[in-house]
Amino acid sequence: MKTTDILIDDLTVTIIRSARRRRLTLEVHPKGIRARAPSRMPVRDIVDFVTLKREWLHKALRALPERPADAPFADGATILLNGGLVKVRFRIGQRGGIQLSDNTLLIPVLQSHLPIVESARNKLVKWLKQHAALAIEQRVAHYAAQMSVQRTPCHTIKVRDYKRRWGSCDTNGNLAFNWRIIMAPPATLDYVVVHELAHCFEFNHSRRFWQIVEEIVPDRRAHQAWLDSHGYQMYTV
Ligand SMILES: [Zn+2]
Repeated sequence: MKTTDILIDDLTVTIIRSARRRRLTLEVHPKGIRARAPSRMPVRDIVDFVTLKREWLHKALRALPERPADAPFADGATILLNGGLVKVRFRIGQRGGIQLSDNTLLIPVLQSHLPIVESARNKLVKWLKQHAALAIEQRVAHYAAQMSVQRTPCHTIKVRDYKRRWGSCDTNGNLAFNWRIIMAPPATLDYVVVHELAHCFEFNHSRRFWQIVEEIVPDRRAHQAWLDSHGYQMYTV
């Protein structure tokens, strides 16, 4: 059996080839789409078939129940950061801040009354929240200017723990974001920022609202699809 991952449109498709297979079948799996194909089927045919079934696949992905994390957070686990996968390594007994090098996040952890994995997780979450806050603040400033959103110092920007949402905007223009959005590709984070800023004009999801969003992010559907299909990976920490 040979497997390859390809990106079709905004769907990650794992092609699993087998000599015994006679026809192509698609499975919707929490980790993405699996295409089981005969060993000699041209990739083009697979791409065409997935494209044809695109709507249905998105619907099926959205309908999947909320999943628990794939693997429990641990030394050696893989997490999403800025849309890419990075490996987490604990540096037990070491002090200092978290370092990112060669797609590996090195987390120094000291022994304490907590289990090592808890201490490492707490440190990582704190680090991710700080990075999220910095990135969001900077992107809000950028897009608020571009969209002519009047913001005053009393309009707050918060990063929060949310179970199922990426951001919010209240009637006073106070913004809140899910810190896990730092795990998404930067362009997807931008979409979430633009989405919440657009609520400063339209406090609903009307046609007018989506027009405002699409003026800035024409491919907003691709970002929504990314969040739909990868959202669960952002909860492995
Ligand atoms: Zn909204």
